[in-house]
Amino acid sequence: MKSFERRPTYDKILMGPGPSTVDPRVLRAMSEPAMGYFDEDFLSILSETRELLRYVFQTKNELTLAISGTGTAGMETALSNLIEPGDRVVICVNGFFGNRMVEIAQRYGADVRVVSAPWGEPISPEDVEKELKSLGKVKLVGIVHAETSTGVLQPLKEISEIVHRHGAFLLVDAVTSLGGVEVPTDKFSLDFVYSGTQKCLSCPPGLAPITVGENAAKYIRGRTKKVGNFYLDLSIIEQYWDGGKVYHHTPSMNLIYALNEALRIVAEEGIENRWKRHERNAKALCAGLEAMGLELLVKREYRLPPLTTVKVPEGIDEALVRKRLMVDYKLEIGAGLGELKGKIWRIGLMGSTSTSRNVMLFLSTFGEVLRSLGFKAHVEEGLEAAFEILGEDGVR
Ligand SMILES: *Cc1c(COP(=O)(O)O)cnc(C)c1O
Repeated sequence: MKSFERRPTYDKILMGPGPSTVDPRVLRAMSEPAMGYFDEDFLSILSETRELLRYVFQTKNELTLAISGTGTAGMETALSNLIEPGDRVVICVNGFFGNRMVEIAQRYGADVRVVSAPWGEPISPEDVEKELKSLGKVKLVGIVHAETSTGVLQPLKEISEIVHRHGAFLLVDAVTSLGGVEVPTDKFSLDFVYSGTQKCLSCPPGLAPITVGENAAKYIRGRTKKVGNFYLDLSIIEQYWDGGKVYHHTPSMNLIYALNEALRIVAEEGIENRWKRHERNAKALCAGLEAMGLELLVKREYRLPPLTTVKVPEGIDEALVRKRLMVDYKLEIGAGLGELKGKIWRIGLMGSTSTSRNVMLFLSTFGEVLRSLGFKAHVEEGLEAAFEILGEDGVR
């Protein structure tokens, strides 16, 4: 038999599009022994986790819990529970994840119409309004709040008003916004919001927090046609989370321990402070990159603090830069997805990865790598510009 050597401890700096760096407290919480899924102690952890989720989602929604599975499981839960075959739905597409919503909605038999915008720009409320006016009855409108493939933060206020005026549900992908920027669940009456744990909550991947508004919850509980899959059927899953009334599937216990601890960390910091931290560090990163001589993909007012997209300068080998950062500095950043493949880098400052120390470390290493490959990066100017924004609070 081949011999297996001990695996090293990986200590990479995760500044890509997720997963982000997990706090050691969360890793420790995960190593607690499992218990029975009807154990009172576990049920009380579930109940506390729901309370904490309501806090990060900024909602009073009763139907708030975490689905077993990654962010995509949250997306599929939303679409499969809200769609019945033949329903007309509108999906907004301005990046990779909007396209994924289209794909899933079609698999559940929806008649899907698309409202699109160029990658790197937000969806225009006027376009949504025009489409809804021309269509008549529409069941739901799906939109991505934080498009991780482009770095666009989608304003939701006007779109929510339009969608509700037309009597449709508004479904929001908050995978990369939850815990990093404000998710206005109750503020803008979002009907169904789903997220993932490995982005701004800095928890391992494997759970998808969701929250469902009263009207959408009522619809789901009252469906006569069963949801097209068993595993993500919320009407049953909800009964388990409600004090363990029924067994549906074994919960990912250790991931729930992890999520509970990650949410406690959010609560200790304070959600508003957390948004501010993400905003400040991203602002410093953007200022640094621009002062260095690089161009950002997204206009200032639509930039997504947890994820910054930078254009690859002429003549620079995009993949080689990422490789050098990984090999020389154990630092991960992301490549472009879909139509932006080869054209941009994606730099994540999510959850516990969003520190001023990481901003300064990234700017100096990235700048040096670019210089060594022939791009005249103004590294000192970049560091100075970033420090000017971070300086007040000190670099930590
Ligand atoms: C990461 C991501 C997803 C998918 O999440 P997985 O955890 O990879 O399944 C969906 N939407 C957005 C906006 C994302 O960033």
